Amino acid sequence: TNDPINQKVVIITGASSGLGEATARRLAGRGAKLVLAARRDDRLKALTEDLKAEGAEVIWQTTDVTDRKQVEALAALAKKTFGRIDVLINNAGLMPLAPLDALKVDEWEQMVDVNIKGVMYGIAAVLPTMREQHSGHVINLSSVAGHKVFPGAAVYCATKYAVKALSEGLRMEAGDEIRSTNISPGAVATELTSTITDPDAKKAAEELYEVAIDSDAVARAIVYAIEQPADVDINEIILRPTAQE
Ligand code: NDP
Repeated sequence: TNDPINQKVVIITGASSGLGEATARRLAGRGAKLVLAARRDDRLKALTEDLKAEGAEVIWQTTDVTDRKQVEALAALAKKTFGRIDVLINNAGLMPLAPLDALKVDEWEQMVDVNIKGVMYGIAAVLPTMREQHSGHVINLSSVAGHKVFPGAAVYCATKYAVKALSEGLRMEAGDEIRSTNISPGAVATELTSTITDPDAKKAAEELYEVAIDSDAVARAIVYAIEQPADVDINEIILRPTAQE
């Protein structure tokens, strides 16, 4: 097959549900070699077995992206098993929305640790290998919340603005070797709203998510970025439900 995705080695963080899982399913169907990561190993194991039954090459490793050593070990496993790393999808994230006045400072820290530091650890873990290869592709999950600030979402928006800055900084520094793609979805039906503990924020999110689209819409956008020829870098994709404001 001359499918550009066939045989590509792709690491996906947050592969245990939502966008990460949908992307794994799409890429497996296109012949990619997958390295799946998240904390819930039961989910990763089940997904891996599912994809293997369809003939895909898939491995998984329990990984907490807030732990730099675990992210390094994940990249090392990918390299040891498949010999290279073509794509890293920094997808793990959480969204415990609440107004600043609610002072959910622990949740702020958790968002910074997963949504920002997790992405930075991912970049650090794959960059030397991609430089050695003179090729690679980093895809970061930002959000519409990385382009526009919403009341009740200040910290989440701050983390997603940071992700957008990292994507753009990497793009500018990467020269002609490494592609950098920032994906910014609007409301997509996943488990993302399940981390909201503030009752008012939960209600507001549930209303916004009434128009949410399916995870596969984002998976298709990610596939589009990966399948371009090496000299084409899709820098940014913003996608929303047609019905989202
Ligand atoms: P889900 O809650 O369904 O998935 C989030 C994933 O992140 C899970 O697989 C979870 O796995 C993983 N994760 C969370 N914390 C950690 C951690 N410490 N270490 C490793 N993995 C972790 O939500 P989505 O699929 O929607 O979210 C994926 C990304 O998309 C996030 O970055 C989110 O911000 C972004 N996004 C989502 C939108 C939406 O409307 N759904 C819109 C815009 C952006 P586990 O718990 O097993 O560790």
